[in-house]
Amino acid sequence: MSLNIDLHSHSSCSDGLLPPAQVAARAHAQGVDWWSLSDHDETSGLAEAAAAARELGLGFIPGVEISVTFCERTIHVLGLNIDPGQPDLRAGLAGIRSDRFARAGEIAQRLQDCGIAGAYEGALRYVGNPDLIGRVHFARHLLEQGHCKSLQQAFDRYLGDGKRAFVPMRWPSLESAVAWIRAAGGKAVVAHPGRYRYTPQQFDALFDTFKALGGSGLEVVSSAHTPAQCDRYARVAQAYGFQASRGSDFHAPGISRAELGRVPPLPEYLVPVWRDWI
Ligand code: AMP
Ligand code: MN
Ligand code: MN
Ligand code: MN
Repeated sequence: MSLNIDLHSHSSCSDGLLPPAQVAARAHAQGVDWWSLSDHDETSGLAEAAAAARELGLGFIPGVEISVTFCERTIHVLGLNIDPGQPDLRAGLAGIRSDRFARAGEIAQRLQDCGIAGAYEGALRYVGNPDLIGRVHFARHLLEQGHCKSLQQAFDRYLGDGKRAFVPMRWPSLESAVAWIRAAGGKAVVAHPGRYRYTPQQFDALFDTFKALGGSGLEVVSSAHTPAQCDRYARVAQAYGFQASRGSDFHAPGISRAELGRVPPLPEYLVPVWRDWI
C-alpha cells in the first residue's frame, strides 16, 4: 500500500483548533505516515509538532502557509521542508504578522459599524498568539455570539472578500514569499489553486511567474478541490513541469472540509514534491 502523506494542516498556532502535538496525534491515529504542519504565516508550532511526531514514529516535514497578493487577490503559498530559523523567512513572516495585527483592529471597527461591539476582544479569545489573528477567529466569535448560524455564514455576511467587515490586505509579493522559502531550504508550492478566482490569463501569469521564480509545485490534491479540479491541476502540473502535493488543509475536528489524511491519492503519473525527502 502506498504511504498516506498529508502536507497541509493547521494548529492553534494559527487558525486551527488543536495544539501542534494533538494535530500530530490525530494525524497518526488517522493513518497518516508523513505529515506537515503548515500554519498561516507562523512557524512557532513546528518544534512541538516535530517532537510529537518523533515520539509517535510519524514522519514530519516542517511547513508554513504564506499569504501572498498576486494580481490583486490573496493566494497561499506553502513552504515545505523549510528551516524555520532562517533569518529572511523569519523576518518576512514577522512582517506579515504585524500587518495581521493592524488589520484586526480595522475588522473590529467595521463590525462595530455593523452594530457588533467587542469583536476584537471576542476574536482574541480564539487565538493563542494575538499576532496571528485572522478572519477565522472573528468568524468563531460571531458564531458563538449568534450573529450567524455557521462559520461560512460569518464569511458570507461579514468577513468574506468584499463583504461589510472585509478589510483588504496587501500581503507580500509572490517573489518575496518564494525567495524566503527557497532561502530557508524549502520548496514553494501553490496551495489549493482551485480556490482562486483568476481569469485563465491570470492563472497563466501565476504559473509562469511562479515557475520563473523557482517555485517547485502545485497542491493538486486538496480538500478545497472537486475531483474535476484535482484533474485540472494535475494536468497543469504536467504542462508546467511542477511537482505535485497533497494536503487535507485540516483545521479542526468536525468543522474542516477534510479529516487529516482523508483526501484522494495523488495521480500516479505526477512527480510528488516529497520524492527527495521520503
Ligand atoms: P485570513 O488569513 O485571516 O484572511 O483568513 C483566511 C482564512 O479564512 C482562510 O484560510 C479560510 O480558512 C477562511 N476563509 C476565507 N474566505 C472564506 C470564505 N469565503 N468562506 C469560508 N472561509 C473562508
Ligand atoms: Mn486557515
Ligand atoms: Mn489556504
Ligand atoms: Mn491552509
